[in-house]
Amino acid sequence: MTYVKALALFSGGLDSILATRLIMEQGVEVEAIQFVTPFFHYDLLDDIEGHVERMHNKYGIKVILEDISPGYLQLLHNPAHGFGKNFNPCIDCKILMFSRAKEMLAERGASFLISGEVLGQRPMSQRRDTLNVIERDSGTRSLLLRPLCAQLLKETLPELQGWVDRSKLLRFSGRGRSDQIAMAARYGITDFPAPAGGCTLADPILGRRIEKLYSTDSRLQGAEITAVDIRLLLVGRQFILPGGGWLILGRDEKENNTLEKLAGEDDALLLMEDWPGPTAVLRKIASHSVSDVDVREVLNLAAAMVVHYGRKLPVGKTSGEVTCTFGGNRILLRAAPAVDESYRNWGIL
Ligand code: SF4
Repeated sequence: MTYVKALALFSGGLDSILATRLIMEQGVEVEAIQFVTPFFHYDLLDDIEGHVERMHNKYGIKVILEDISPGYLQLLHNPAHGFGKNFNPCIDCKILMFSRAKEMLAERGASFLISGEVLGQRPMSQRRDTLNVIERDSGTRSLLLRPLCAQLLKETLPELQGWVDRSKLLRFSGRGRSDQIAMAARYGITDFPAPAGGCTLADPILGRRIEKLYSTDSRLQGAEITAVDIRLLLVGRQFILPGGGWLILGRDEKENNTLEKLAGEDDALLLMEDWPGPTAVLRKIASHSVSDVDVREVLNLAAAMVVHYGRKLPVGKTSGEVTCTFGGNRILLRAAPAVDESYRNWGIL
């Protein structure tokens, strides 16, 4: 039998698991490419080996993580096919992923692509005309096999070449999930993620936050939006201080730790060492965020916010001591808690 290898576009959802398994069953070697951006699956980069092992043990699938953050951050400025209901550029997102997967064919010695798309399952990105646009703009026409609905679509290269048997492919369509669940049961797969979860761009609240970062008049935006900007934007309470300083405050220990980890050299990190309260990041304070207002003044405002969101000060104490690490320096700021009237308008979503 001829040796053939395919790459699967793998979201980690049930459809992509089933599509991969269906093609593996035909004797094709499949590597499943799971794309990562700050908007989805980014945390997997913290433990790549663990994730690869979990996917192998759970589904018998070999997963490879591929970080496409830089291209994706650019794409969001002006996606050619626009946005969905929220800030989700689903069509361009798929075009970007499919284009990258096509490049990876040569890199990984594979001959064709597969995806778990089902005709008519999603209103925007899985209509027949949209599937055609995605194939056309990513240059994957004929190279891309959609095993779950292949019998409803034109024959593709792997079918024409006899690498896969079309008669064993499926004709799923529409939004129902019962066929997929029954098929999963046949493979002994019972534990899989809920459909369409995990993309922050499709989330109405987080999507709006990200949109704000991308809006042209945004005071959050630096010369270039980075993955760290997005990760910070998705954590904790968010404010823009008078003068333009972007302040992020953790709401619990986990968020405080995340902020500490994400703070860069240009950022100020603030916290009360001797009193419970949030960790805060004042983003890029050293370079561009603050315009006319004195940096010290902005740091004092940030410190007042840290004290405000900390545990209530003991009776008789009117201010808290906030340590601020900034540009290699460590300074102590004494601040009274910010009062509601002053910061109410500073919040961003
Ligand atoms: S929901 Fe998010 S990850 Fe999925 S296609 Fe749309 S933009 Fe891409």
